[in-house]
Amino acid sequence: MAFLEVRDLVVAYGAIQAVRGVSFDVEEGQIVSLIGSNGAGKTTTLRTLSGLLRPVSGTVSFKGEQIQRLPAHEILGLGVAHSPEGRRLFARMSVEENLRLGAYTRKDEDGIVADIQRVYDLFPVLGERRQNKAGLFSGGEQQMLAIGRALMSRPKLLMLDEPSMGLSPIMTQLIFDTVKELRAEGTTVLLVEQNALAALGLSDQAYVIDLGRTTLSGTGAELLADPRVQEAYLGEG
Ligand code: ATP
Repeated sequence: MAFLEVRDLVVAYGAIQAVRGVSFDVEEGQIVSLIGSNGAGKTTTLRTLSGLLRPVSGTVSFKGEQIQRLPAHEILGLGVAHSPEGRRLFARMSVEENLRLGAYTRKDEDGIVADIQRVYDLFPVLGERRQNKAGLFSGGEQQMLAIGRALMSRPKLLMLDEPSMGLSPIMTQLIFDTVKELRAEGTTVLLVEQNALAALGLSDQAYVIDLGRTTLSGTGAELLADPRVQEAYLGEG
C-alpha cells in the first residue's frame, strides 16, 4: 500500500467531466509530479485530494485510509497540505500574518513560532521582510510565502499547484531546490506542473495527465527521455 493511492478518479463540474480516470501512487519521501497541458485536469485532481471537490467515483487513500469523502479540514488534519494555483495569499496582510493563517488549526504557540522560523530559514528573504505586506512582493517571493504557509500545518504530504507559474528560470530553480530540501527533510511532495522540463528533472516518479486521464508514468528521467513526452510537453521532436 502506497503512502497516497489514487484510483480511477472521476470528477465533474456539472455535466463537464474534468477528470475521467486518474490513477497514481505517491511513495513516502518522494517527489511525484503530475504533468500535462493546460486544462488536462491536474488542478481539479489536487483540489479533489484536498477535499475541496467531491469525486463522482474513484478512491483516494492516504496512509491506508480512504479520504475522498472527508471535509477539507479533516484532510488537512491528517497531514495533507495544499499550496494552490495562483498562490491565494492575503495581499494586505504581512508575511507573518499569512504564515500564521497556515497554522490556524494549531494551538501550540511555541511550535508555531519555531515553524515560522523554519520557513525563514528556508526562505531568508521572507524573514527579512516579515512585517511587509504580501501584495508588494514579487511573484517568486509570493510563491515562497505560499509554500511557507502550507508548511505551517507540518504536512506529511505537501501538494504544490504550479509553483513555477510566472517565475523566471532562476526563481523556478530556487523554488525547486527548496522542494528538494523539503524531501531531504522527510516531506513527501506531490507537484503539479506545466513546466514539464523543470518538474521531471527533480521527480522520483511522474505521471502524464491528458484529457482527464493518466496516460504515461515512469521515473522523472524515464519520462524526460520518452519521445512521446518530448514531443508533446518538452517542445522537442
Ligand atoms: P491548468 O494548468 O490550466 O490549471 P489543469 O490541468 O489544472 O490546467 P483543470 O484546471 O483541472 O486543468 O481543468 C480541467 C478541465 O475542467 C478544463 O477543461 C477546465 O476548463 C474545466 N474546469 C475547471 N474548473 C472548472 C469549473 N469551475 N467549472 C467548469 N469547468 C471547469
